[in-house]
Amino acid sequence: MVIRVTEPKGQDMRRKLVVGNWKMNGSRAANAELLAALKATGPWIAEVALCAPMPYLADVALSLQGDAMAWGAQDCSAFDSGAYTGEVSAAMLAEFGCRYVLNGHSERRAMHAEGDQLVADKAKAALAHRLTPIVCVGETLAEREAGQTDAVVKRQLSAVIHTLGHCISQIVVAYEPVWAIGTGKTASPEQAQAVHALLRAQLKAATEHAGDMKILYGGSVKADNAAALFAQADIDGGLIGGASLKAADFAAICRAAG
Ligand code: PEP
Repeated sequence: MVIRVTEPKGQDMRRKLVVGNWKMNGSRAANAELLAALKATGPWIAEVALCAPMPYLADVALSLQGDAMAWGAQDCSAFDSGAYTGEVSAAMLAEFGCRYVLNGHSERRAMHAEGDQLVADKAKAALAHRLTPIVCVGETLAEREAGQTDAVVKRQLSAVIHTLGHCISQIVVAYEPVWAIGTGKTASPEQAQAVHALLRAQLKAATEHAGDMKILYGGSVKADNAAALFAQADIDGGLIGGASLKAADFAAICRAAG
């Protein structure tokens, strides 16, 4: 099997980006069906990428050859190689033509005890191999109710800014309030925009390219709420979990980003 490795492109000046996060779902047959349906529906005006579970990445890469959709992984190691059983390095992903990698998804922060510095180190490893890290930040319900949203997301992003230095401009940020992920509760467009504006301001203090960086919203985005979220000034697309598993729903969200 020969997989063409494409050169990663720079960030496309705030063209909307919609990323599907399949999480630990799928099968070879179900993935083939989903990919065929999406390929038949696209391309979209927005850039679209799919983050699949590790064992399926080679299948996805092969299926998407010649298609406008990109693909990515849901995590990578902070290390290049060595005694890290179960880990997959950014170098390995890059060898297959991977474009994006999620770092610091809240499910990994919560279930795998990934702290801010580890997430930043993973993003650094990804960039070193010319992958684009999509760094996820977001507060829990308890943190929101305690009025800590701003402090939490700023702390999470700050670790990445300090670790990447001027390379911070090469990442994508995803604001994903933990209380909205997989719960059916979405942040209102105004709630999301307020946090996105805060993150943009923090990036502006770190890089002159902040205005060109993409900040995605994630958390129960559906076909019927996507357009209002994507219309906000600092929301540059979405990170889509559950709805990315159904071709018609995901395609509608991609269209809403156009
Ligand atoms: C996610 O997994 O990143 C996510 C946003 O999930 P959902 O869309 O299902 O809330």
